[in-house]
Amino acid sequence: MDLPVLVAGGGIGGFAAALALVRQGFAVKVLEQSPSMTQPRAFL
Ligand SMILES: Cc1cc2nc3c(=O)[nH]c(=O)nc-3n(C[C@H](O)[C@H](O)[C@H](O)COP(=O)(O)OP(=O)(O)OC[C@H]3O[C@@H](n4cnc5c(N)ncnc54)[C@H](O)[C@@H]3O)c2cc1C
Repeated sequence: MDLPVLVAGGGIGGFAAALALVRQGFAVKVLEQSPSMTQPRAFL
């Protein structure tokens, strides 16, 4: 699809949404404010 999607936040919720949208054919960009993903949380 031509409609681009921006997902704010690269946590598990953001990446799950992005993956679902990509599978539906959307062009998705995930914007993450944190410079690293090393915090002890449920990051992908
Ligand atoms: C200390 C701690 C330990 C945890 N341990 C576990 C565990 O062991 N197992 C487990 O299942 N759950 C754990 N959790 C819970 C788990 O982290 C959350 O349930 C889960 O991460 C929620 O996912 P989320 O995508 O909704 O939000 P988050 O993981 O909070 O992701 C949101 C992301 O959005 C980014 N963001 C926010 N605002 C902006 C913005 N304006 N622009 C760009 N990016 C932005 C943040 O930097 C963050 O990366 C823990 C939570 C904490 C705080």
